[in-house]
Amino acid sequence: MTSNKTKYIFVAGGVMSGVGKGVATASIGRILKEYGFSVTAVKIDPYINVDAGTMNPVEHGEVFVTEDGLECDQDIGNYERFLDQNILKTNYMTTGSVYQAVIQKERNLEYGGKCVEVVPDIPNEVIGRIKNAARINRADFVLVEIGGTVGEYQNMLFLEAARMLKLTEPANVLFLLVSYLPIPQMVGEMKTKPTQYAVRTLNMAGIQPDMIIARSSVPLDNERKKKISVFCNVADHNVISAPDVDSIYEIPINFEKDKLGLRIVNHFGLTGAKKNFNKWKNLVGRVKNKKLLSVKIGIAGKYFASGAFTLADSYISVIEAVKHAAWANNRRPVITWLNAEGYEKNPRALTKLKEFDGIIVPGGFGSRGVEGKIKVINYARTNNIPFLGLCYGLQLAVIEFARNICNLKKAHTTEIAPDTVHPVICTMSEQLANIANKNLGGTMRLGSYVCEIKNGTLAHKIYGSGMICERHRHRYEVNNKYIDELEKKGLVRSGINPDKNLVEIIELPKHKFFVATQFHPELKSRPLNPHPIFRSFIKAAISK
Ligand code: GLN
Repeated sequence: MTSNKTKYIFVAGGVMSGVGKGVATASIGRILKEYGFSVTAVKIDPYINVDAGTMNPVEHGEVFVTEDGLECDQDIGNYERFLDQNILKTNYMTTGSVYQAVIQKERNLEYGGKCVEVVPDIPNEVIGRIKNAARINRADFVLVEIGGTVGEYQNMLFLEAARMLKLTEPANVLFLLVSYLPIPQMVGEMKTKPTQYAVRTLNMAGIQPDMIIARSSVPLDNERKKKISVFCNVADHNVISAPDVDSIYEIPINFEKDKLGLRIVNHFGLTGAKKNFNKWKNLVGRVKNKKLLSVKIGIAGKYFASGAFTLADSYISVIEAVKHAAWANNRRPVITWLNAEGYEKNPRALTKLKEFDGIIVPGGFGSRGVEGKIKVINYARTNNIPFLGLCYGLQLAVIEFARNICNLKKAHTTEIAPDTVHPVICTMSEQLANIANKNLGGTMRLGSYVCEIKNGTLAHKIYGSGMICERHRHRYEVNNKYIDELEKKGLVRSGINPDKNLVEIIELPKHKFFVATQFHPELKSRPLNPHPIFRSFIKAAISK
């Protein structure tokens, strides 16, 4: 690199949301990494919520958790998966968190008696955070994704921050618009006008995009590329075609067909950068290989939505972790949704579970669908079907075992049945005050904690190590008062948090594969580094 100043790429969305701005941002990051640059990515969400932790997954999609315990948007998960590196809390902000910080500084007299104003103090706080992320990550490139769509009232101050940063560092900032080009059925041709309007709207905010990623169902033809170039004032080689693809992991390679990486490198006048895409290409080769045998996994969930977000969004990290592990085992993943509530009304449907090579009960909250999930776990346990329980999945597996093997018929979690006579899952004492005081934002057991693995267990074989770290997001735990009883009947605690003696992993040794974790291993799975627990689960699922 000829310049040692950090470069900032702002990514905004045009025309409509949900066209893959987050994955586009992550893909640009991957490309720049393949060119040998150090890269990090920042997500800005325009809502008032201080973090994503208090939102229902049906409305907002999965809540992702960082190593350092921030509950954030699923795009941070996309960045981690594509970049194959951790993204920390420095790299996430919302309107709520920015205002909260500015107001706190004002209360602390940190503005030196000045009148604190929306502009420039809010954009300045945003710029400070972006620069902090650059410094902490020692990044050559910081990608900054501005949530929402241009023209929305909510994200104006973030666009203002982008404009102000460009004003002070014109050589270090690039603006990129990810826009959608519809093909109306009755017209049958791709329309560029909405994108032209989106650019005009950006212009009104004082921003001229340097590049446009043109999302559509099909590739952009030359005529359209020229039209966008002329009417949007962007060089035609900087208009990048981004058609729909089967797998999101193809996107970096697709962008490279239009030489996106080189365009960025040239924009900043950086010389001598050489790319090496071999590993990623190898991965995509496996992803696209239709000849691979399948592995059929059923996921018993409850976040079946109408609404803006689909089921796939609610469980995105679990789905991606299954895919990564399947590809690593040279299998084609086939994932089926099992509506847990359905098994409550119709237990006979359980016999259909035999069709699956493996079953997952993922994380969750509240009572809906819980009895159905417990029935699914019981079926997997008694029919020797490989089973993986994640967080709530572990808690419900313990309840199932307590009820049906230890004969504690009323066993339950105090999350649902606070007065149960057998609270096999209960909350830690420090959480009681949080619950009583409704102090519920960002107060769960969050982020990375150590776990000691017991020798001679399946978990030990899986991790090949005695001490690991995994990410958590829960308020309830296995009640240690019941440990002796559970262990006597064959439940093995194969992972324990050494500081608080909390159960982190359980397994049933006589079963083909019955493992459940109090943490969320799916949060750490990446396509180039599939998680060992998921790998091993899939391996068991495909073994005869
Ligand atoms: N509801 C459970 C708890 O709070 C499990 C949470 C989860 O699955 N992430 O402990």
